[in-house]
Amino acid sequence: MTYPTYHNLIGGQWIPAVSGKTILNLNPADHSDVIGAFPSSHAEDVAMAVAAAKKAFATWRLVPAPRRAEILLRAGNNLVQNKEKYARDMTREMGKVLAETRGDVQEAIDEAFYVAGEGRRLFGVTTPSELQNKFAMSVRMPVGVVGLITPWNFPMAIPSWKLFPALVAGNACIIKPATDTPLSTYNLVQALVDAGLPPGVVNIVCGTGSTAGAALVEHPDVRAISFTGSSAVGSLIAQRAAATFKQVSLEMGGKNAQIVLNDANLDLALDGALWGAFGTTGQRCTATSRILLHKGIAAEFTEKFVARAKKLKIGNGLDESVEIGPQVNAAQIETSARYVDLAIKEGAQLLCGGHALTEGPYAHGTFFEPTVFAGVTPSMRIAREEVFGPVVALIEFSTFDEAVEIANSVDYGLSTSLYTRDVNRAFTAMRDLEAGITYINAPTIGAEVHLPFGGVKHTGNGHREGLGALDFFTTWKAVYVDYSDKLQRAQIDNAE
Ligand code: NAD
Repeated sequence: MTYPTYHNLIGGQWIPAVSGKTILNLNPADHSDVIGAFPSSHAEDVAMAVAAAKKAFATWRLVPAPRRAEILLRAGNNLVQNKEKYARDMTREMGKVLAETRGDVQEAIDEAFYVAGEGRRLFGVTTPSELQNKFAMSVRMPVGVVGLITPWNFPMAIPSWKLFPALVAGNACIIKPATDTPLSTYNLVQALVDAGLPPGVVNIVCGTGSTAGAALVEHPDVRAISFTGSSAVGSLIAQRAAATFKQVSLEMGGKNAQIVLNDANLDLALDGALWGAFGTTGQRCTATSRILLHKGIAAEFTEKFVARAKKLKIGNGLDESVEIGPQVNAAQIETSARYVDLAIKEGAQLLCGGHALTEGPYAHGTFFEPTVFAGVTPSMRIAREEVFGPVVALIEFSTFDEAVEIANSVDYGLSTSLYTRDVNRAFTAMRDLEAGITYINAPTIGAEVHLPFGGVKHTGNGHREGLGALDFFTTWKAVYVDYSDKLQRAQIDNAE
């Protein structure tokens, strides 16, 4: 079996990991298809990348932001040129169907064009000074060397949400992609390199979280960490990063609810639920993993939902007729299977699915059936914990207030959705649902790059990607210019 070997990108050079070891990247639809061998990096590799980034930062920070933005614009155009190839690479390494991986690349294109425009809009603030003949302003400065740690489910879009704002703001970056999906990060960074990004401004260090990821979090010269992944790892990163007083942005898990009221357009709610629960094989942080049904429509909705879930075509995402690809790896299959067992033990009713598919066309991949549980109560673990697979829990309620209470009863707070024709309830839900994102008459998935993206409670620590990313990747500097030619003491001389 032949496959390419990839190296880390450090200071513009492709360099093998010091360990000499690699990690294989396998196609989850067919494990005999090896995408490539990627470096298994440790602290030494991270240290080299940080040194290269530090050197590059010295000049990159002085490039005017509109010039930096032009590189992003060209990178966006490079992504447009290679969209189909990059989508196919992504389906091979991650599994989701081509329509979705084209969407993932498109999201990176959208982000490039959106953030390129921000190069001429890094606004600061001027304000009157309390003293005469004194000018006061605040300007945005880059943070410095920043570390970006990304998950496998949006292998190009999520790196682009971090890299592009970090770059336009003048930071130098080290990105550590997930071990399951490094190729899409290489493709994204290649688009930047081909667009003229100077060496060392972006460095790629591949490896596991506990080796390469942890070293990045602990390195004293890294000023900020932007992380997307599980809440368990996010908590660990925040604690470790505190030792060197780093800024930390955490985007983490979800247990997202779609609420269907009894006045909803039921067919629309069904389309939304099916896409929200089983799109990306349920492996989205915003995936619909709870469907809250008013008792008046629960029976009809459930019957139609299960009938449609059973018909979904599962297979290799490179086949255009397939609707659901594999889960990304065996560990995710084990998690789905564990939650199915748990839900059954807790008394939930399995309506369809519940098993890994291991025969015939599925024999060499990691596939799991679309799975629906009814009779779920809010206290069951299947109703509270993130599964990150094609497993959805149906929960019934009697009143709107009860639905909002159930939706808010979990530790997470990423996305929520309400299907109704009642404008008063829609606005009440927009106000009262504890989540970073609320959709009305649309599924819990489908964020656009120019709105704030992130969540509350255990989902995030208060930062946002999209609109809000520049707040994380810049630091405010206050500048006072005194042209009075005498000493003026703030709070003292202004009393005269
Ligand atoms: P994960 O937390 O296992 O890994 C995420 C990244 O962190 C990977 O690159 C991993 O190598 C790295 N990592 C792991 N341990 C580390 C450590 N000790 N120090 C530093 N880095 C470490 O998550 P995953 O399985 O890749 O992704 C799935 C999770 O991501 C889900 O919980 C999902 O909800 C979440 N997610 C959240 C968002 C969001 O924006 N809120 C988006 C996508 C995914």
